[in-house]
Amino acid sequence: MEQKKLTTAGGRPYVEFENSMSAGNRGPLLLQDYFLHEDLAHFNRERIPERVVHAKGTGAFGTFTVTHDISRYTKAKIFAEVGKQTNMFARFSLVAGERGSADTERDPRGFALKFYTEGGNWDLVGNNTPVFFIKDAKKFSHFIHTQKRDPKTNCKNPTAIWDFWSLNPESLHQVMILMSDRGTPFSYRHMNGFGSHTFSMINKAGEQVWVKFHFKTLQGIKNFTGKEANDMRGTDPDHVQRDMVEAIGSGAFPKWAMQIQVMTHEQVKDYRFNPFDVTKVWSHKAFPLIDVGIMELNKIPENYFRDVEQSAFAPANIVDGIGFSPDKMLQGRILSYPDAHRYRLGVNYEQIPVNKCPYDVTNYQRDGFMQIGDNGNAAPNYRPNSFDNVVTDEQYKEPIVILDSNIGGWFDRNENDDDHFTQPGDLYRNALNDQDRKNLVTNIVESMSGITGEKRNEIINRQLCHFFRADQQLGTDIAAGLRVKIDEKTLAPTNK
Ligand code: NDP
Repeated sequence: MEQKKLTTAGGRPYVEFENSMSAGNRGPLLLQDYFLHEDLAHFNRERIPERVVHAKGTGAFGTFTVTHDISRYTKAKIFAEVGKQTNMFARFSLVAGERGSADTERDPRGFALKFYTEGGNWDLVGNNTPVFFIKDAKKFSHFIHTQKRDPKTNCKNPTAIWDFWSLNPESLHQVMILMSDRGTPFSYRHMNGFGSHTFSMINKAGEQVWVKFHFKTLQGIKNFTGKEANDMRGTDPDHVQRDMVEAIGSGAFPKWAMQIQVMTHEQVKDYRFNPFDVTKVWSHKAFPLIDVGIMELNKIPENYFRDVEQSAFAPANIVDGIGFSPDKMLQGRILSYPDAHRYRLGVNYEQIPVNKCPYDVTNYQRDGFMQIGDNGNAAPNYRPNSFDNVVTDEQYKEPIVILDSNIGGWFDRNENDDDHFTQPGDLYRNALNDQDRKNLVTNIVESMSGITGEKRNEIINRQLCHFFRADQQLGTDIAAGLRVKIDEKTLAPTNK
């Protein structure tokens, strides 16, 4: 092995590593021992702010390979032809816990993908669930506060969690998925992923359709029951990180099939739900899944901090041929994700190797903390100018956006969109088997049993009404588990 000299960060070779410089063998240390200062000072700064959400994560590099032609929908270069392979990076995560929290907590799992395409980096920043708890970004920080620690006790607070959910019934669909065994996946390899939001695709002729992205695990779905997940928290809190490192290390590269659902402008107008509402799914029967390609993860980063902790995904990173939609959560995330990265990693976070576009990047952004690129060298840093030859390109223009209304204002997010119960009911009746339903009720009862205080009955009753509206049997079983008496005629709780 090649011998290397131990040096300071500035490159000065160390003459002594084991002992600090001191005045005599037993005397005090000398201020001039820069080797000592540099080591301690760097150590003190090793931690960067953790992500407010999705703090604990697992990352891996891989490839995406096109298996089916979807060029009739999109001109995105990543989908240009069957067989085309694009490098990518994936980061899976838990949402609510801290960087050291246990991997098998009941929580949605983040499913964030970065594709290094010739048309720029495309980030698809989704979850292992096709829906989300809320449909308007204005509610996001409030929702997350309820998932985090109580301001006084510094403990997780089921009262706040269920208070928020019961007051925002649009959360019911995601709550049901979270409380099913899919809320405690066995590993990241054994869960599906979803882009969750509606996006658009634009083809070479400028025609636009609306799409949802699905990633089906080829390892098969495998979940823990609530009890198994709790046991694993004590046995190995890093279970899913270890699972991914070991699987990829042994050559068992996990794979997912990318599929899309497609809706036309006409179908959007006719659909019985608002298709841009992220608390709803699109029926598989009406909008069948279309095969696109295979994602394979095959390399664990050599250094976790460099590539996983410093990775930054943003739904704002779309590419030519893929567009946004009026989904209000997506619109909010376009703003908030890059903003979070600027705070956590600095304004030049796109220059960090894992985030860096491997193709040419040219603009007039300059300076800022941690500028490690060429910073534009001597080229003009203003525009227009008479010196450079940097052009914009009309061919990347997206189709015009036709607005629903020309009235700006604060509209009720649930106006004409207040059926929060049909799809959760369909999930309970059609997608779950008897054992799944039993586990769902057990998990809900266990979680709601943690609601305490003077508002306990009020919160429980309000949430029970939502479960009853989704499915009468579901409501009845949860009420029985919570020992809430129900009036048989009105189905109203009588626990007051
Ligand atoms: P389908 O019967 O065509 O699809 C049912 C879907 O539910 C399948 O994709 C299935 O599994 C998935 N599923 C099974 N168990 C769970 C669970 N515990 N949590 C989440 N998803 C689960 O029916 P529809 O398209 O008519 O949808 C019926 C209900 O299924 C919806 O209301 C929704 O709650 C749920 N669902 C629908 C999806 C969609 O995109 N249409 C996607 C996921 C769930 P798998 O993921 O293994 O394919």
